[in-house]
Amino acid sequence: MELLLKTDSRFVINILKNHRKLEDEGYISSPHPQLMRSTIASFRMRPTQTYMKWVRGHNGHERNEGADRLASEATKKEKASFVNLGLPRELNVTGAKLSTMTQALAYKAIMAMKAKDDDMYRRRTDINLMRIKNCVEDLFGYVPTSEAIWKSIRNKDFELKIQIFMWKACHYAFWTGTHWTIPGMKAELQERAICHSCDQIDDLNHILTKCESPGQALIWELAGKLWDKKSSNIQWREPTIGDILGCGLVLGACGSSGPSIPLLTVSSLRCAVRVKFV
Ligand SMILES: [Zn+2]
Repeated sequence: MELLLKTDSRFVINILKNHRKLEDEGYISSPHPQLMRSTIASFRMRPTQTYMKWVRGHNGHERNEGADRLASEATKKEKASFVNLGLPRELNVTGAKLSTMTQALAYKAIMAMKAKDDDMYRRRTDINLMRIKNCVEDLFGYVPTSEAIWKSIRNKDFELKIQIFMWKACHYAFWTGTHWTIPGMKAELQERAICHSCDQIDDLNHILTKCESPGQALIWELAGKLWDKKSSNIQWREPTIGDILGCGLVLGACGSSGPSIPLLTVSSLRCAVRVKFV
């Protein structure tokens, strides 16, 4: 059976009509490349012709109005629906044809890859900031700004190496966990993503607070004793990654001789050992 798609977007029609160009360029210049790749592949899988027709939007067309209504409802969802954009292997066209590659296109591809990486790391930094904010709110009843967190990391009571450790940890810059699974990584190096004692992703959160390999619990037990000796008015607790990364703010709350210096020193030492030898 032939398929007739009606859309109010000339933009989408033009893009899909030029699918050969998109495929040859490896979707480098395409907006929403994964969506386009999946849509074109689903057209190719059809045994019969697919046609597209433009209709005027917001003009009383029954199905066009219905699509608008569904799209509007979808934007109000708290959780995004899962959309399977997976492709059959034979239709998964990756990379650009060398014959169509120009210097400008290659530059665009490099910038797109870099933007994707930057975006991933920005999101991970945001997650760490959120962890710190949750912990500080839990302990002190207020939510620090991101600026206050960055400032606390540069606290002059921290040695420079600790400041660097904190900054790198917040930015997910240590080679731990899923860093080892980036595309192109050798198989034997990808194994480093997993902690072999616990079968868990071996990221900083795991290394510092969850790992069951010998020494983990002992180190925090010793840190707890050190904490109590400093007579802090804050009850010791097994630290989360948010507590550790946010301890510059704890330092502010406890005074410059507060207990967070030994805590951080212990945690950074342990991390340094693990990160160095992975
Ligand atoms: Zn482990």
